[in-house]
Amino acid sequence: MTQPSRHAALRGCFITFRGNPFTMPPEDALHVEEDGLILIRDGIITHCGPYTQVRPFVPHNCPITHYPDSIITAGFIDTHVHYPQMPVIASWGEELLAWLKHYVFPAEARFEDKALAQAVARNFMTELLRNGTTTAAVYCTVHPQSVDAFFEESSRLGTRMIAGKVLMDRNAPDAVRDTAQQGYADSVALIDRWHQNGRQLYAVTPRFAITSTPEQLEMAGALFKSRNDLFMQTHLAETQQECADVATLFPNRSSYLDVYDKAGLVGPRALFGHGIYLNEHDLQRCHTADCTLCHCPTSNLFLGSGIFRLFDVTSKTRPVRTGLGTDVGAGTSLSLLATMAEAYKVSLLAGGAKLHAIQAFWLATAGGAQALHLADKIGTIAPGLEADLCILNPNATPLLTQRVKTSNSMADVLFALMMLGDDRCIQATWVHGTCVHEI
Ligand SMILES: [Zn+2]
Repeated sequence: MTQPSRHAALRGCFITFRGNPFTMPPEDALHVEEDGLILIRDGIITHCGPYTQVRPFVPHNCPITHYPDSIITAGFIDTHVHYPQMPVIASWGEELLAWLKHYVFPAEARFEDKALAQAVARNFMTELLRNGTTTAAVYCTVHPQSVDAFFEESSRLGTRMIAGKVLMDRNAPDAVRDTAQQGYADSVALIDRWHQNGRQLYAVTPRFAITSTPEQLEMAGALFKSRNDLFMQTHLAETQQECADVATLFPNRSSYLDVYDKAGLVGPRALFGHGIYLNEHDLQRCHTADCTLCHCPTSNLFLGSGIFRLFDVTSKTRPVRTGLGTDVGAGTSLSLLATMAEAYKVSLLAGGAKLHAIQAFWLATAGGAQALHLADKIGTIAPGLEADLCILNPNATPLLTQRVKTSNSMADVLFALMMLGDDRCIQATWVHGTCVHEI
């Protein structure tokens, strides 16, 4: 029996991208539809444009949801986050390696309990949607049941998510360690179960070079290459101490990136968290290999890891795909608005160009989709794209209301939103054509 088609229509000001604001004037890259209408059928955008032009296509029985004082954007995209670390967000006083040992590994050990994993996954997804995030690349724990718990919740909500079981066979406590063989076998079973199951996508997930033996990295590489649509996610060059430890563990490799490269882990859909301490040769390699760097500014500031050189990484001469990541629990917020604010500040500390509001919103939407090689599905508001939408309220707080009163451009309103906004500004979140969160 065929299901009747499901329609939805949203009216309001919407913004989307017609180009990359890192390679063209930002104002030219942004499209603003002051009184727009977005028509959705079975989770897919079929029409969008000026209200008067799209109105005739709305079926007679389809209600129009009106957001008169808001800004509708594509849902936010978080390219690097750890759902099991949500309970230890904002844990005081350590840099990366000690923070992992003291806070993260004990927290992740608890995910052997599937009921706990389910409860945290549910809370995590609720928080993501409250923050307008509709797609994320998510680390689970070493336990396969932590992945099942996450994908079960994502499937229930209908979100497009990327996730994977962490591979970690050394330099970690027993409770969060696997073996190269077991990690491989578990990953194969999870890929069979979840990859391309509805909107779910699998990422082979070695945590980083310190906690995987060369054998495990090689097996991860073989798995990543076994299909041409799998993702891979790991950490790269986040802190100086970590880089020094990797150099000691892999004395025959020319760089940290080369450790992954020789294992077959560098290529399209490989997502590297951080990438702060990369040299020109590494960045050239990222460009030619078409892999992705995930910029996680709140995390880098919280752990004192370092300053990501966004405009060097995205340089026109050898651009590297780049998205924004919250990196919770080292990151201090699941809000992409808050993440954009810190990315702006980090761009100032890095010297050179200053992150423009339109560039920041691109990174959080269309650019994030490009970073994940999913731009044909998510990240913009256009016919044929999946209807994941975030409704922003620029008057969510008294301070914002005062501030935007004087705004004379969309770029200025967006800048105020990213500097002053948080979950209170997310009036509603739509996933695959259905409203799943509303204030
Ligand atoms: Zn991370």
